[in-house]
Amino acid sequence: MRILITNDDGIHAEGLRVLVRAAQTHGEVAIVAPDRERSACGHAMTMRDPLRVREVEWPGARAWHVNGLPVDCINVGRAVAWPEGIDLVLSGINHGPNLGFDITYSGTVAGAMEGAINGIRSISVSMATFVDSAPLHFETGERWLCENLPSLIRAELPDLCFLNINVPAIAFEEVQGERWVRMGRRVYEDRVEVRSDPWGRPYYWQGGVVVMHREQPNTDVGAVSEGFVSITPVSLDWTHEDALLAGAR
Ligand code: MN
Repeated sequence: MRILITNDDGIHAEGLRVLVRAAQTHGEVAIVAPDRERSACGHAMTMRDPLRVREVEWPGARAWHVNGLPVDCINVGRAVAWPEGIDLVLSGINHGPNLGFDITYSGTVAGAMEGAINGIRSISVSMATFVDSAPLHFETGERWLCENLPSLIRAELPDLCFLNINVPAIAFEEVQGERWVRMGRRVYEDRVEVRSDPWGRPYYWQGGVVVMHREQPNTDVGAVSEGFVSITPVSLDWTHEDALLAGAR
């Protein structure tokens, strides 16, 4: 099995190393990742600048870093790693959750999305911490993936569908199991903070505090809050069926 791996935290991220180790137990791995952190770039791609690709040393795998974004990495990977075709795209393991609406901002999720657009089985994986600077427990993600990747690879999925997975950032022994769940809602408060530069001019820093209502049954937010790994099948057909039917009437 030919497995292409990317992330949005960059080639040096710990989560990337962990994901590669888990994937190497299931197939041949190639890594194409951004040369620096590119979190929250969404499904953006580089079009007006050249992509520079550099091969780097990696134990047991071929690896390249790119001066671009996760979507660029998938497309570069398809060209340089296996032009004849790829069986699986893995993206992550992200340094933090990608729950609910996070999937629209996430570069990690966008890597999987680009794989799915190209007809490749694709999975994004994130460690779901709930408190900034809490331990990420990447070892939990690694162990869970080692055990569960085969069933995720075999799972029946329609076209244009990929899997977004969040692993709770807790010890492996505390994980309650896994749940296939809907995308939940994760909203931020105080999104933009105004600060002052050394010359007294205002600037704005975007971040925000998550206001997450954990009581969201059958969602990724709810599952991870209860200590389960969440598996959410995400469709690239964004059409809203009910609105379509109502509009067409
Ligand atoms: Mn990230």
